[in-house]
Amino acid sequence: MKYKSTRGGVQGISFKDAVMMGLAEDGGLLVPENLPAADIGYLHSCACKSYESLAFEIFKLFADDIEEETLWEIVKESYANFDSGEIVPVVHKDRIYVAELFHGPTYAFKDIALQFLGNLFEHILKERSEKMNILGATSGDTGSAAIYGVKGKDNINIFILHPSGKVSPVQELQMTTVKSENVFNIAVKGSFDDCQAIVKNLFSDLEFKSKYNLGAVNSINWARILAQIVYYFYIYFRICDEKSNGGKNLRFVVPTGNFGNILAGFYARRMGLPIDKLVLATNENNILHRMISYGDYSVKDVVQTYSPSMDIQLSSNLERYLYYLYEEDSETLDKKMKELNDERRIHFTEEEINKIRSVFLSQESSNEETLSTIRNFYNSTQYILDPHTACGVKAAENFMAKDNCIYVCLATAHPAKFPDAVYKAIGKYPERPEGICKLNDLEKQSYVLNNNTDEVKYFIKNILEEGDKNAG
Ligand SMILES: *Cc1c(COP(=O)(O)O)cnc(C)c1O
Repeated sequence: MKYKSTRGGVQGISFKDAVMMGLAEDGGLLVPENLPAADIGYLHSCACKSYESLAFEIFKLFADDIEEETLWEIVKESYANFDSGEIVPVVHKDRIYVAELFHGPTYAFKDIALQFLGNLFEHILKERSEKMNILGATSGDTGSAAIYGVKGKDNINIFILHPSGKVSPVQELQMTTVKSENVFNIAVKGSFDDCQAIVKNLFSDLEFKSKYNLGAVNSINWARILAQIVYYFYIYFRICDEKSNGGKNLRFVVPTGNFGNILAGFYARRMGLPIDKLVLATNENNILHRMISYGDYSVKDVVQTYSPSMDIQLSSNLERYLYYLYEEDSETLDKKMKELNDERRIHFTEEEINKIRSVFLSQESSNEETLSTIRNFYNSTQYILDPHTACGVKAAENFMAKDNCIYVCLATAHPAKFPDAVYKAIGKYPERPEGICKLNDLEKQSYVLNNNTDEVKYFIKNILEEGDKNAG
Protein backbone atom coordinates (compact mmCIF):
# COMPACT_ATOMS: atom_id res chain seq x y z
CA MET A 1 0.00 0.00 0.00
CA LYS A 2 1.40 3.34 -1.06
CA TYR A 3 0.32 6.83 -0.10
CA LYS A 4 0.01 10.09 -2.03
CA SER A 5 -0.78 13.70 -1.24
CA THR A 6 -4.22 15.19 -1.80
CA ARG A 7 -2.46 18.07 -3.60
CA GLY A 8 -0.73 15.78 -6.09
CA GLY A 9 2.88 16.73 -5.30
CA VAL A 10 3.88 13.57 -3.43
CA GLN A 11 3.28 9.92 -4.28
CA GLY A 12 4.58 6.38 -3.84
CA ILE A 13 5.13 6.88 -0.09
CA SER A 14 5.27 3.77 2.12
CA PHE A 15 3.08 3.45 5.21
CA LYS A 16 6.02 3.99 7.57
CA ASP A 17 7.10 7.09 5.65
CA ALA A 18 3.54 8.39 5.63
CA VAL A 19 3.42 7.98 9.42
CA MET A 20 6.70 9.84 9.85
CA MET A 21 5.79 12.58 7.37
CA GLY A 22 2.48 13.67 8.93
CA LEU A 23 1.65 16.58 6.64
CA ALA A 24 2.75 16.00 3.03
CA GLU A 25 5.60 18.19 1.82
CA ASP A 26 3.39 19.92 -0.76
CA GLY A 27 1.07 21.08 2.03
CA GLY A 28 -1.56 18.42 1.36
CA LEU A 29 -2.64 15.41 3.39
CA LEU A 30 -1.55 11.85 2.73
CA VAL A 31 -4.17 9.36 1.53
CA PRO A 32 -3.93 5.74 0.32
CA GLU A 33 -3.24 5.48 -3.41
CA ASN A 34 -5.90 2.75 -3.67
CA LEU A 35 -8.38 2.06 -0.95
CA PRO A 36 -8.66 -1.70 -0.27
CA ALA A 37 -12.10 -3.32 -0.34
CA ALA A 38 -12.95 -4.94 2.98
CA ASP A 39 -13.79 -8.64 3.16
CA ILE A 40 -16.78 -8.05 5.42
CA GLY A 41 -17.42 -11.71 6.32
CA TYR A 42 -13.82 -12.32 7.26
CA LEU A 43 -13.49 -9.13 9.28
CA HIS A 44 -16.70 -10.00 11.08
CA SER A 45 -15.20 -13.30 12.19
CA CYS A 46 -12.06 -11.49 13.41
CA ALA A 47 -14.18 -9.00 15.36
CA CYS A 48 -15.80 -11.94 17.15
CA LYS A 49 -12.37 -12.97 18.47
CA SER A 50 -11.31 -9.60 19.85
CA TYR A 51 -10.99 -5.90 19.11
CA GLU A 52 -7.26 -6.46 18.71
CA SER A 53 -7.74 -9.23 16.13
CA LEU A 54 -9.93 -6.96 14.04
CA ALA A 55 -7.49 -4.05 14.38
CA PHE A 56 -4.64 -6.28 13.27
CA GLU A 57 -6.48 -7.42 10.13
CA ILE A 58 -7.43 -3.88 9.14
CA PHE A 59 -3.97 -2.49 9.85
CA LYS A 60 -2.43 -5.24 7.73
CA LEU A 61 -4.29 -3.90 4.69
CA PHE A 62 -2.72 -0.47 5.10
CA ALA A 63 0.64 -1.16 6.73
CA ASP A 64 2.09 -3.93 4.61
CA ASP A 65 5.64 -2.72 5.22
CA ILE A 66 5.55 -3.79 8.88
CA GLU A 67 6.21 -7.44 9.64
CA GLU A 68 3.08 -9.17 10.85
CA GLU A 69 4.61 -10.32 14.13
CA THR A 70 5.74 -6.80 14.93
CA LEU A 71 2.39 -5.35 13.95
CA TRP A 72 0.61 -7.76 16.27
CA GLU A 73 2.93 -6.74 19.15
CA ILE A 74 2.20 -3.09 18.44
CA VAL A 75 -1.55 -3.73 18.41
CA LYS A 76 -1.46 -5.64 21.68
CA GLU A 77 0.60 -2.99 23.42
CA SER A 78 -1.59 -0.18 22.09
CA TYR A 79 -4.75 -1.53 23.69
CA ALA A 80 -3.18 -2.94 26.86
CA ASN A 81 -3.81 0.25 28.86
CA PHE A 82 -7.57 0.36 28.36
CA ASP A 83 -9.80 -0.22 31.36
CA SER A 84 -12.26 -2.36 29.40
CA GLY A 85 -11.33 -5.67 27.81
CA GLU A 86 -13.79 -4.92 25.01
CA ILE A 87 -11.84 -1.70 24.30
CA VAL A 88 -15.04 -0.13 22.90
CA PRO A 89 -18.07 -1.27 24.94
CA VAL A 90 -21.43 -0.56 23.34
CA VAL A 91 -24.41 0.20 25.59
CA HIS A 92 -28.06 0.41 24.54
CA LYS A 93 -29.95 3.32 26.12
CA ASP A 94 -33.34 4.66 25.26
CA ARG A 95 -33.40 3.39 21.63
CA ILE A 96 -29.88 4.73 21.00
CA TYR A 97 -26.65 2.79 21.04
CA VAL A 98 -23.81 4.58 22.76
CA ALA A 99 -20.36 3.32 21.78
CA GLU A 100 -17.94 4.25 24.54
CA LEU A 101 -14.68 5.27 22.93
CA PHE A 102 -13.31 6.65 26.20
CA HIS A 103 -11.77 3.69 27.99
CA GLY A 104 -8.14 4.59 27.31
CA PRO A 105 -5.67 6.21 29.72
CA THR A 106 -6.94 9.80 29.24
CA TYR A 107 -10.65 8.94 29.00
CA ALA A 108 -11.24 10.36 25.52
CA PHE A 109 -11.52 8.67 22.13
CA LYS A 110 -8.16 9.99 20.98
CA ASP A 111 -6.37 7.33 23.02
CA ILE A 112 -7.54 4.72 20.53
CA ALA A 113 -5.39 6.30 17.83
CA LEU A 114 -2.61 7.86 19.87
CA GLN A 115 -1.63 4.79 21.87
CA PHE A 116 -1.17 3.11 18.49
CA LEU A 117 0.70 6.04 16.97
CA GLY A 118 3.12 6.27 19.94
CA ASN A 119 4.05 2.62 19.53
CA LEU A 120 4.40 2.98 15.76
CA PHE A 121 6.75 5.93 16.21
CA GLU A 122 8.87 4.09 18.74
CA HIS A 123 9.14 1.07 16.46
CA ILE A 124 10.01 3.02 13.31
CA LEU A 125 12.53 5.32 15.05
CA LYS A 126 14.32 2.40 16.62
CA GLU A 127 14.52 0.58 13.31
CA ARG A 128 15.93 3.67 11.60
CA SER A 129 18.14 4.84 14.50
CA GLU A 130 16.45 8.23 14.33
CA LYS A 131 15.14 10.76 16.80
CA MET A 132 11.99 12.76 16.47
CA ASN A 133 10.36 15.81 18.01
CA ILE A 134 6.62 15.74 18.03
CA LEU A 135 4.85 19.03 17.71
CA GLY A 136 1.11 19.35 18.08
CA ALA A 137 -1.70 21.71 18.88
CA THR A 138 -4.59 20.71 21.06
CA SER A 139 -7.93 22.07 22.12
CA GLY A 140 -7.69 19.68 25.04
CA ASP A 141 -8.00 15.96 24.45
CA THR A 142 -5.39 15.45 21.74
CA GLY A 143 -2.62 16.88 23.87
CA SER A 144 -3.11 14.64 26.85
CA ALA A 145 -3.72 11.57 24.70
CA ALA A 146 -0.58 12.31 22.65
CA ILE A 147 1.48 12.81 25.78
CA TYR A 148 0.23 9.51 27.20
CA GLY A 149 0.98 7.91 23.83
CA VAL A 150 4.68 8.81 23.87
CA LYS A 151 5.69 9.62 27.46
CA GLY A 152 8.87 7.84 28.42
CA LYS A 153 9.41 6.45 24.91
CA ASP A 154 12.94 6.38 23.53
CA ASN A 155 14.14 8.85 20.90
CA ILE A 156 11.02 11.06 21.08
CA ASN A 157 10.33 14.48 22.60
CA ILE A 158 6.88 15.98 22.55
CA PHE A 159 5.90 19.67 22.47
CA ILE A 160 2.19 20.29 22.87
CA LEU A 161 0.60 23.72 22.38
CA HIS A 162 -2.73 24.43 24.04
CA PRO A 163 -4.73 27.69 24.26
CA SER A 164 -3.87 29.06 27.69
CA GLY A 165 -6.84 28.91 30.06
CA LYS A 166 -9.15 27.48 27.38
CA VAL A 167 -8.96 23.79 28.12
CA SER A 168 -10.92 22.16 30.91
CA PRO A 169 -9.21 21.79 34.31
CA VAL A 170 -9.10 18.00 33.99
CA GLN A 171 -7.57 18.24 30.51
CA GLU A 172 -5.01 20.72 31.78
CA LEU A 173 -4.14 18.48 34.70
CA GLN A 174 -3.82 15.44 32.45
CA MET A 175 -1.35 17.26 30.22
CA THR A 176 0.71 19.16 32.71
CA THR A 177 1.14 16.59 35.46
CA VAL A 178 2.97 14.04 33.34
CA LYS A 179 6.47 13.97 34.75
CA SER A 180 8.63 12.79 31.94
CA GLU A 181 11.81 14.27 30.52
CA ASN A 182 10.49 14.07 26.97
CA VAL A 183 7.27 16.04 27.58
CA PHE A 184 6.92 19.85 27.16
CA ASN A 185 3.61 21.68 27.55
CA ILE A 186 3.31 25.14 25.95
CA ALA A 187 0.35 27.35 26.93
CA VAL A 188 -0.20 29.85 24.08
CA LYS A 189 -2.00 33.14 24.78
CA GLY A 190 -4.56 32.64 22.00
CA SER A 191 -7.23 30.29 20.63
CA PHE A 192 -6.93 26.71 19.47
CA ASP A 193 -6.91 27.92 15.86
CA ASP A 194 -3.92 30.15 16.74
CA CYS A 195 -2.11 27.12 18.16
CA GLN A 196 -2.93 25.13 15.07
CA ALA A 197 -1.68 27.95 12.83
CA ILE A 198 1.65 28.10 14.68
CA VAL A 199 2.10 24.36 14.26
CA LYS A 200 1.25 24.61 10.55
CA ASN A 201 3.74 27.46 10.15
CA LEU A 202 6.51 25.50 11.84
CA PHE A 203 5.83 22.46 9.71
CA SER A 204 6.01 24.53 6.54
CA ASP A 205 9.39 25.92 7.69
CA LEU A 206 11.17 23.07 5.93
CA GLU A 207 14.61 23.92 7.27
CA PHE A 208 13.38 23.89 10.86
CA LYS A 209 11.27 20.81 10.21
CA SER A 210 14.13 18.73 8.86
CA LYS A 211 16.81 20.00 11.25
CA TYR A 212 14.77 18.88 14.26
CA ASN A 213 12.93 16.04 12.56
CA LEU A 214 9.51 17.37 13.46
CA GLY A 215 6.66 14.90 13.51
CA ALA A 216 2.93 15.41 13.90
CA VAL A 217 0.36 13.77 16.10
CA ASN A 218 -2.56 15.93 15.06
CA SER A 219 -5.47 14.24 13.41
CA ILE A 220 -3.81 14.79 10.03
CA ASN A 221 -1.54 11.79 10.67
CA TRP A 222 -2.81 8.94 8.54
CA ALA A 223 -2.15 6.35 11.26
CA ARG A 224 -4.72 8.07 13.46
CA ILE A 225 -7.42 7.83 10.83
CA LEU A 226 -6.44 4.21 10.28
CA ALA A 227 -6.77 3.33 13.98
CA GLN A 228 -10.21 4.93 14.04
CA ILE A 229 -11.49 2.97 11.04
CA VAL A 230 -11.36 -0.15 13.22
CA TYR A 231 -14.11 0.75 15.65
CA TYR A 232 -16.63 1.53 12.91
CA PHE A 233 -16.32 -2.09 11.83
CA TYR A 234 -16.24 -3.37 15.40
CA ILE A 235 -19.34 -1.48 16.49
CA TYR A 236 -21.19 -2.31 13.29
CA PHE A 237 -20.62 -6.05 13.77
CA ARG A 238 -21.57 -5.89 17.44
CA ILE A 239 -24.87 -4.18 16.75
CA CYS A 240 -25.78 -6.22 13.70
CA ASP A 241 -25.31 -9.40 15.70
CA GLU A 242 -28.28 -8.42 17.84
CA LYS A 243 -31.24 -10.29 16.37
CA SER A 244 -33.73 -7.45 16.72
CA ASN A 245 -31.66 -5.32 14.36
CA GLY A 246 -31.80 -7.50 11.25
CA GLY A 247 -32.30 -5.57 8.05
CA LYS A 248 -32.39 -2.08 9.50
CA ASN A 249 -30.08 0.65 8.31
CA LEU A 250 -27.37 1.73 10.69
CA ARG A 251 -26.24 5.31 11.07
CA PHE A 252 -23.28 6.54 13.06
CA VAL A 253 -23.58 9.87 14.85
CA VAL A 254 -20.24 11.57 15.38
CA PRO A 255 -19.51 14.60 17.57
CA THR A 256 -17.15 16.47 15.27
CA GLY A 257 -14.34 19.01 15.52
CA ASN A 258 -11.38 18.37 13.24
CA PHE A 259 -13.32 15.88 11.12
CA GLY A 260 -10.89 13.06 12.02
CA ASN A 261 -13.30 10.72 13.74
CA ILE A 262 -16.05 10.98 11.13
CA LEU A 263 -13.53 10.77 8.29
CA ALA A 264 -12.58 7.30 9.54
CA GLY A 265 -16.26 6.39 9.22
CA PHE A 266 -16.23 7.74 5.68
CA TYR A 267 -13.27 5.47 4.87
CA ALA A 268 -14.94 2.44 6.49
CA ARG A 269 -18.01 3.11 4.35
CA ARG A 270 -15.91 3.53 1.24
CA MET A 271 -14.19 0.21 1.99
CA GLY A 272 -17.59 -1.44 1.82
CA LEU A 273 -18.93 -1.42 5.37
CA PRO A 274 -22.67 -0.93 4.77
CA ILE A 275 -23.10 2.18 6.89
CA ASP A 276 -26.25 3.99 5.78
CA LYS A 277 -25.29 7.56 6.67
CA LEU A 278 -22.84 9.40 8.86
CA VAL A 279 -24.49 12.03 11.02
CA LEU A 280 -22.18 14.90 11.83
CA ALA A 281 -22.93 16.67 15.12
CA THR A 282 -21.53 20.10 15.92
CA ASN A 283 -21.85 22.57 18.75
CA GLU A 284 -22.36 26.30 18.04
CA ASN A 285 -19.22 26.21 15.90
CA ASN A 286 -21.47 24.97 13.16
CA ILE A 287 -19.49 25.46 9.95
CA LEU A 288 -19.65 21.76 9.04
CA HIS A 289 -23.36 21.63 9.80
CA ARG A 290 -23.90 24.63 7.49
CA MET A 291 -21.78 22.97 4.83
CA ILE A 292 -23.77 19.75 4.89
CA SER A 293 -27.19 21.30 5.29
CA TYR A 294 -26.95 24.13 2.77
CA GLY A 295 -23.50 24.16 1.23
CA ASP A 296 -22.45 27.21 3.24
CA TYR A 297 -18.82 26.67 4.18
CA SER A 298 -17.84 30.13 5.37
CA VAL A 299 -15.42 30.60 8.23
CA LYS A 300 -16.60 32.52 11.30
CA ASP A 301 -14.96 33.24 14.64
CA VAL A 302 -14.54 30.38 17.07
CA VAL A 303 -16.91 30.57 20.01
CA GLN A 304 -16.33 28.82 23.32
CA THR A 305 -18.87 26.16 24.24
CA TYR A 306 -19.36 23.38 26.79
CA SER A 307 -17.69 21.01 24.32
CA PRO A 308 -14.25 22.61 23.83
CA SER A 309 -12.79 19.76 21.76
CA MET A 310 -15.29 20.74 19.06
CA ASP A 311 -14.60 24.51 19.22
CA ILE A 312 -13.06 24.57 15.78
CA GLN A 313 -13.79 26.36 12.50
CA LEU A 314 -11.17 25.04 10.09
CA SER A 315 -11.24 21.26 10.40
CA SER A 316 -7.83 19.98 9.43
CA ASN A 317 -9.10 16.69 8.04
CA LEU A 318 -11.86 18.05 5.84
CA GLU A 319 -9.37 18.31 2.97
CA ARG A 320 -9.22 14.53 2.77
CA TYR A 321 -12.98 14.32 2.29
CA LEU A 322 -12.98 17.18 -0.24
CA TYR A 323 -10.38 15.28 -2.21
CA TYR A 324 -12.90 12.49 -2.73
CA LEU A 325 -15.73 14.94 -3.30
CA TYR A 326 -13.70 16.34 -6.21
CA GLU A 327 -13.16 12.82 -7.60
CA GLU A 328 -9.51 12.66 -6.47
CA ASP A 329 -8.65 15.60 -8.69
CA SER A 330 -5.74 17.37 -6.97
CA GLU A 331 -5.90 20.39 -9.25
CA THR A 332 -9.49 21.22 -8.33
CA LEU A 333 -8.77 20.58 -4.67
CA ASP A 334 -5.74 22.86 -4.78
CA LYS A 335 -7.86 25.63 -6.31
CA LYS A 336 -10.54 25.16 -3.65
CA MET A 337 -8.02 25.29 -0.81
CA LYS A 338 -6.65 28.53 -2.23
CA GLU A 339 -10.19 29.88 -2.48
CA LEU A 340 -10.68 28.98 1.17
CA ASN A 341 -7.47 30.73 2.11
CA ASP A 342 -8.30 33.92 0.17
CA GLU A 343 -12.05 34.21 0.65
CA ARG A 344 -12.50 32.32 3.93
CA ARG A 345 -15.15 30.22 2.23
CA ILE A 346 -15.64 27.46 -0.31
CA HIS A 347 -18.47 27.54 -2.86
CA PHE A 348 -20.21 24.25 -3.53
CA THR A 349 -22.40 23.55 -6.55
CA GLU A 350 -25.87 22.05 -6.20
CA GLU A 351 -24.49 18.76 -7.46
CA GLU A 352 -21.69 18.80 -4.89
CA ILE A 353 -24.13 19.54 -2.09
CA ASN A 354 -26.26 16.58 -3.17
CA LYS A 355 -23.20 14.39 -3.22
CA ILE A 356 -22.24 15.48 0.30
CA ARG A 357 -25.76 14.77 1.47
CA SER A 358 -25.75 11.29 -0.01
CA VAL A 359 -23.25 10.37 2.73
CA PHE A 360 -23.67 12.89 5.53
CA LEU A 361 -26.47 14.36 7.59
CA SER A 362 -25.84 16.98 10.21
CA GLN A 363 -27.20 18.70 13.25
CA GLU A 364 -26.07 21.55 15.48
CA SER A 365 -26.52 21.78 19.25
CA SER A 366 -26.65 25.11 21.02
CA ASN A 367 -25.11 25.35 24.47
CA GLU A 368 -28.57 25.22 25.99
CA GLU A 369 -29.48 22.13 23.97
CA THR A 370 -26.27 20.42 25.02
CA LEU A 371 -27.21 20.82 28.67
CA SER A 372 -30.85 19.87 28.19
CA THR A 373 -29.79 16.74 26.32
CA ILE A 374 -27.53 15.71 29.21
CA ARG A 375 -30.41 16.40 31.61
CA ASN A 376 -33.15 14.61 29.67
CA PHE A 377 -31.00 11.62 28.86
CA TYR A 378 -29.99 11.30 32.49
CA ASN A 379 -33.58 11.55 33.65
CA SER A 380 -34.76 8.83 31.31
CA THR A 381 -31.77 6.45 31.47
CA GLN A 382 -29.60 7.40 34.49
CA TYR A 383 -26.70 7.51 32.02
CA ILE A 384 -24.48 10.60 32.15
CA LEU A 385 -23.31 11.97 28.79
CA ASP A 386 -20.31 14.24 28.42
CA PRO A 387 -21.11 17.51 26.56
CA HIS A 388 -19.49 16.34 23.29
CA THR A 389 -21.42 13.11 23.23
CA ALA A 390 -24.55 15.07 24.14
CA CYS A 391 -24.28 16.98 20.84
CA GLY A 392 -24.33 13.58 19.15
CA VAL A 393 -27.27 12.26 21.13
CA LYS A 394 -29.19 15.45 20.37
CA ALA A 395 -28.60 14.82 16.65
CA ALA A 396 -29.61 11.18 16.96
CA GLU A 397 -32.85 12.13 18.71
CA ASN A 398 -33.65 14.65 16.04
CA PHE A 399 -33.28 12.20 13.16
CA MET A 400 -34.66 9.21 15.02
CA ALA A 401 -38.03 10.88 15.21
CA LYS A 402 -38.22 10.78 11.41
CA ASP A 403 -37.20 7.26 10.40
CA ASN A 404 -36.66 3.66 11.35
CA CYS A 405 -32.85 3.51 11.29
CA ILE A 406 -30.59 2.32 14.08
CA TYR A 407 -28.55 5.14 15.57
CA VAL A 408 -25.24 4.63 17.28
CA CYS A 409 -23.70 7.67 18.87
CA LEU A 410 -19.97 7.64 19.39
CA ALA A 411 -19.25 8.69 22.98
CA THR A 412 -16.03 10.62 22.69
CA ALA A 413 -15.22 11.46 26.31
CA HIS A 414 -15.90 10.28 29.83
CA PRO A 415 -18.28 12.75 31.55
CA ALA A 416 -15.83 13.21 34.43
CA LYS A 417 -13.56 15.14 32.05
CA PHE A 418 -16.21 17.87 31.89
CA PRO A 419 -17.70 17.91 35.40
CA ASP A 420 -18.81 21.56 35.37
CA ALA A 421 -21.05 21.22 32.33
CA VAL A 422 -22.51 18.03 33.75
CA TYR A 423 -23.16 19.77 37.06
CA LYS A 424 -24.91 22.63 35.28
CA ALA A 425 -27.12 20.12 33.52
CA ILE A 426 -28.10 17.70 36.29
CA GLY A 427 -27.03 19.31 39.56
CA LYS A 428 -24.48 16.66 40.41
CA TYR A 429 -20.99 15.69 39.42
CA PRO A 430 -20.25 12.51 37.52
CA GLU A 431 -18.31 9.86 39.37
CA ARG A 432 -14.61 10.19 38.66
CA PRO A 433 -12.60 7.20 37.59
CA GLU A 434 -9.47 6.54 39.64
CA GLY A 435 -7.14 7.79 36.92
CA ILE A 436 -8.73 11.24 37.15
CA CYS A 437 -8.97 11.39 40.97
CA LYS A 438 -5.27 10.95 41.47
CA LEU A 439 -4.29 13.90 39.20
CA ASN A 440 -5.08 16.48 41.87
CA ASP A 441 -2.15 15.39 44.00
CA LEU A 442 0.39 15.89 41.24
CA GLU A 443 2.49 18.95 40.41
CA LYS A 444 1.72 20.91 37.19
CA GLN A 445 4.30 22.16 34.71
CA SER A 446 3.86 24.26 31.55
CA TYR A 447 5.48 27.19 29.71
CA VAL A 448 3.34 30.23 28.83
CA LEU A 449 4.23 31.84 25.47
CA ASN A 450 2.74 34.56 23.26
CA ASN A 451 0.71 33.80 20.15
CA ASN A 452 3.77 34.10 17.93
CA THR A 453 5.36 31.49 15.72
CA ASP A 454 8.92 32.72 16.23
CA GLU A 455 8.61 32.73 19.98
CA VAL A 456 7.54 29.09 19.93
CA LYS A 457 10.24 28.24 17.42
CA TYR A 458 13.01 29.68 19.61
CA PHE A 459 11.63 28.03 22.71
CA ILE A 460 11.82 24.62 21.02
CA LYS A 461 15.28 25.32 19.61
CA ASN A 462 16.58 26.28 23.04
CA ILE A 463 15.25 23.17 24.73
CA LEU A 464 16.66 20.86 22.07
CA GLU A 465 20.03 22.55 21.92
CA GLU A 466 20.34 22.48 25.71
CA GLY A 467 19.43 18.78 25.60
CA ASP A 468 22.18 18.17 23.06
CA LYS A 469 24.71 19.99 25.24
CA ASN A 470 23.74 17.98 28.27
CA ALA A 471 24.00 14.81 26.28
CA GLY A 472 27.62 15.81 25.72
C1 LIG B 1 -11.27 15.37 19.53
C2 LIG B 1 -12.62 15.24 20.11
C3 LIG B 1 -13.77 15.42 19.32
C4 LIG B 1 -13.69 15.78 17.86
O1 LIG B 1 -13.14 14.77 17.07
P1 LIG B 1 -12.54 15.14 15.63
O2 LIG B 1 -11.86 13.91 15.18
O3 LIG B 1 -11.59 16.27 15.86
O4 LIG B 1 -13.68 15.53 14.79
C5 LIG B 1 -14.99 15.24 19.92
N1 LIG B 1 -15.10 14.96 21.22
C6 LIG B 1 -14.03 14.79 22.01
C7 LIG B 1 -14.23 14.51 23.44
C8 LIG B 1 -12.76 14.92 21.48
O5 LIG B 1 -11.70 14.76 22.27
